[in-house]
Amino acid sequence: MSSIAFAALLLAGCATIPADATRARYLMGTTCTVTVPAGEEADAQAALDEIARVEQFLTTWRDDSELARLNAAADDVAVDVSPELFALLDEVSSLAETTGGAFNPLVRPLVDLWNTRGEGSVPAQSALEAALARTNPALARLDRAHSTVALSRGAAFEEGGFGKGYALDRALAVLAQNGVGRAFVDFGGQVSLFGWSRGLDVAIAHPEQRLEPAVVVTVESGSIATSSGSERTFVVDGARFSHLIDPRNGRALPPRGSATAFDARGLVADVLSTALCVLGPDEGLRWADAHDVAALFIVPNPVSDAWEVRTSRSFRSHVRAIRLVAPNLTVKDQ
Ligand code: ADP
Ligand code: MG
Repeated sequence: MSSIAFAALLLAGCATIPADATRARYLMGTTCTVTVPAGEEADAQAALDEIARVEQFLTTWRDDSELARLNAAADDVAVDVSPELFALLDEVSSLAETTGGAFNPLVRPLVDLWNTRGEGSVPAQSALEAALARTNPALARLDRAHSTVALSRGAAFEEGGFGKGYALDRALAVLAQNGVGRAFVDFGGQVSLFGWSRGLDVAIAHPEQRLEPAVVVTVESGSIATSSGSERTFVVDGARFSHLIDPRNGRALPPRGSATAFDARGLVADVLSTALCVLGPDEGLRWADAHDVAALFIVPNPVSDAWEVRTSRSFRSHVRAIRLVAPNLTVKDQ
């Protein structure tokens, strides 16, 4: 899917750091690039293989993945699910609960209705209400004792909001297991890294110009995910919509800048960036502060054509440095 944040590898004093090597592959609808110390290219390939393995069981862009088969199972049938997929769906479901439903992995009926995987369309209110009813978290029953999942009333999982974050965690686990000392994985709108003891500069893109860095943050390890309602938009009758859906009312969001989440784990950062985008800056920052979440919004200034950068309290403590690098950006203090 789309990429919003991207990374600029600006090493702070690289004299004693050996050169890096990169390996890239097209995965999950975008290009994934793995950077490791030169000589460890085989480990970079192993990390990409691991992401390909995750895509194999998680993608619902094909009918034959494990998740696609679960989605296609008849209503209320308990489907045996691999321990890995079960644990992932279980964790994503409880993360979704902490967001108050702003993130909902069962958003699939609304994704289909708004056709946000395709050209986009605006549904009739009656169809919207019917689809919304099918996203109720109670319609997915996860049985931990038997590792089965039963879906009711046509409920279905949508992996678009969490698959890349999980895949990044798996890629980093493979790199660490193989003894790689430091790595940087760029998966479009989300990056994960570890071992950069001198700090690595990571660029967060401008919400409307993804090749333009807007903010640069310096981090040692962790994951930075950005969701943008200003990218991948479609217009119907003069109104613009994004591929992000508010599961609380069933409506595709209008474009309104981007939300970035930092977390030690890619899965968490991926889920939270989507949730924060849905909540918007005011509600999102209140929620982030209440949950000690590191969040950064880049949103249009309501009275000018400039953009505002707003961060939650803990964002600055999680990154070593933060710099605004685009013109027309101002920091709004909370
Ligand atoms: P990207 O796709 O650019 O990585 P996100 O991580 O924000 O961006 O994920 C957006 C995708 O998540 C959408 O394309 C859709 O598949 C899914 N999605 C949209 N709205 C929600 C939501 N409220 N909760 C969970 N998933 C969502
Ligand atoms: Mg996401």
